Amino acid sequence: MSCYRGRIAPSPTGLMHLGHARTFWTAYQRACNAHGTLIFRNEDLDPQRSRREFGEAMVEDLRWLGIKWQEGPDVGGPHAPYVQSMRRNWYLGAWRELRDGAWIYPCTCSRKDLAEAAGAPHEQNDEPMYPGKCRGNRSQQDTPVGVNWRFRVPDGHVVRFVDGALGPQEYVAGRDFGDFVVWRRDDVPAYQLAVVVDDVAMEITEVVRGADLLKSTARQILLFQALGLNAPAWYHCDLVTDDEGVRLAKRHDALSVRNMRENGLTPEEVRNRW
Ligand SMILES: [Zn+2]
Repeated sequence: MSCYRGRIAPSPTGLMHLGHARTFWTAYQRACNAHGTLIFRNEDLDPQRSRREFGEAMVEDLRWLGIKWQEGPDVGGPHAPYVQSMRRNWYLGAWRELRDGAWIYPCTCSRKDLAEAAGAPHEQNDEPMYPGKCRGNRSQQDTPVGVNWRFRVPDGHVVRFVDGALGPQEYVAGRDFGDFVVWRRDDVPAYQLAVVVDDVAMEITEVVRGADLLKSTARQILLFQALGLNAPAWYHCDLVTDDEGVRLAKRHDALSVRNMRENGLTPEEVRNRW
């Protein structure tokens, strides 16, 4: 085995659709081609949207498609647990480090404040630009609970990286994205923080995921830098669209792998659809 370590990291918030399946297949192929290790990580941090039955369906559907992993919640491994809801202490450690370094600040804006201040998000599904009202806040509170914690982005700083699939990428902090949440007021670590912490802890060398997360990659690179950690390599896959050109989402049930499987398609036939 080589030192390549990739991961597939689905969220159990719905049935897996064709777009995600293709991304996971790509991750699997890249790990195979490198004779590396593939890690399965269950990203179940959102208590409102995550459901155990979706998690079980995900594992079943991925296996049915022919994807194999060497470490994960079902097979164990040296970096267990592979379930984000069980990794709170890792995230808290990073939160403390960011707080001690004054990289983050508590934001007390209400949802209404934010809705009034912010324009429309730049892109569908992306968080709106934060106007910066609480930027000057300082706090030494011992736990993150009760407020949103935001990362203070270095305005004007250019984040550059070379994507393995899409080539050179460039984002400007403060223009393409604003101060982003690393810990939510409902005491849930935010996606940006959790994946950075996990990718380091699990020694991931390449992240394969959808191109809708390119801008999140720029945010995460700032987190890696703030925490003094090396970022992995990146490989962002094109997004699959439906017949009308609309990007697939979990609501496209007809295009879920589960649905196709129940309609009698073979794994090969499903893979031929992307
Ligand atoms: Zn605020």
